[in-house]
Amino acid sequence: MALIVQKFGGTSVANPDKIKAVAKRVLACKKKGNDMVVVLSAMAGETNRFVDLANQMQAIPDPREMDVLLSSGEQVTIALFAMAVKEMGDDAVSLLGDQVKIVTDRMHTKARIKEIDSALIHKHLKDGKIVVVAGFQGVTPDGDITTLGRGGSDTTAVALAAALKADQCDIFTDVDGVYTTDPNICAAARKIDRITYDEMLELASLGAKVLDIRSVGIAKRYKVPLHVRSTFTENEGTWVVEEDKKMESMQISGVTYNKNEARITIAKVPDQPGTASKIFKPISDAGIVVDMIIQNTRGTEMTDMTFTVPRTDYKRAMTLVEKIAADIGAESVSGATDIVKVSVVGVGMRNHSGIATTMFDTLSSEGVNIMMISTSEIKISCVIEEKYTELAVRSLHKAFNLDQAA
Ligand code: ADP
Ligand code: ASP
Ligand code: MG
Repeated sequence: MALIVQKFGGTSVANPDKIKAVAKRVLACKKKGNDMVVVLSAMAGETNRFVDLANQMQAIPDPREMDVLLSSGEQVTIALFAMAVKEMGDDAVSLLGDQVKIVTDRMHTKARIKEIDSALIHKHLKDGKIVVVAGFQGVTPDGDITTLGRGGSDTTAVALAAALKADQCDIFTDVDGVYTTDPNICAAARKIDRITYDEMLELASLGAKVLDIRSVGIAKRYKVPLHVRSTFTENEGTWVVEEDKKMESMQISGVTYNKNEARITIAKVPDQPGTASKIFKPISDAGIVVDMIIQNTRGTEMTDMTFTVPRTDYKRAMTLVEKIAADIGAESVSGATDIVKVSVVGVGMRNHSGIATTMFDTLSSEGVNIMMISTSEIKISCVIEEKYTELAVRSLHKAFNLDQAA
């Protein structure tokens, strides 16, 4: 008998029939003698609908209230799922984050899990129930509801699997596993059978939303075996595992894109010691994560500073930056949200040269202008205009021979 955590994403529970189908699948697994803990997302589209509603109420929605709103979608699906199981003659109990006690910090809309109390879940499992936990939510030590950031149900599932010392964690979604690029925009994308935690961390951090990055970090730290697979087929999916020698022979394992960033440029910043810290400290104090930063010196006294922030934090960041720019005597502030960051990722990059050149050549031969570049040991990213996303992803996928079977 094993303890299995299974997470089903929004498209897997998009309507009553799909919820019933998922309940049937989970029940079949329970009937094989396993203890089942199920983590659910909100029905597809619900969380976006809540964000739209909030934006109609307040220019920058209050983060605490935002979490009360955003967390409600998962409350609906877990209750419906438990009803479906009961209708099928078995037993289930739905639990919200604060009932389990998934305790987080107070960083509303992007909270981090601090600890999970597994006692109540174990009690219900012992009573023979399927335990259905709301994904994406937690509670602060003072009892306020928090959410974990978009896509956070994956993180709930993996954190629960680690806390419960589960034998397996299955992430069920609407594609067959992790692909060499998003299969929904590149028909030539291929499913990867096994991928390392580190590569998956890079892919997730660069926009492959099939797994939330924090879920991969937790899986790596606690060695949780992760299996990403389709809700709609019985096919074997992708295993996220520790690195082995064979994997290093591949140059590039994937191409990603991230449309969740926005660009901010401060023009003609006085080029003096301490300026960068004056600009970025208030931004980080506000809990806004800056990604790429480029500084261009103009002559000797002035510099332009361009950086990216999450699109969801763009308005807040702009308000802060306009004030900072005035304080430090910069000339102007501009920004854009119609950008995308495309990246190529692979552990094999450590031993191969010329990857950056291939990437730049490929984009230029498609007439795509590169606005920003950043690199790390196993990835190269370029910021380009959002309208070129599909063109760039498909041509890079081809240029790095990902279209062909390994
Ligand atoms: P869920 O609602 O199940 O959590 P998501 O929409 O969050 O599902 O993630 C699955 C989606 O991730 C897929 O439908 C696909 O469009 C997208 N995706 C992006 N990059 C990749 C990739 N490299 N491999 C697989 N899917 C990817
Ligand atoms: N419902 C949340 C979202 O759409 C969490 C999740 O699906 O993982 O971001
Ligand atoms: Mg998701």
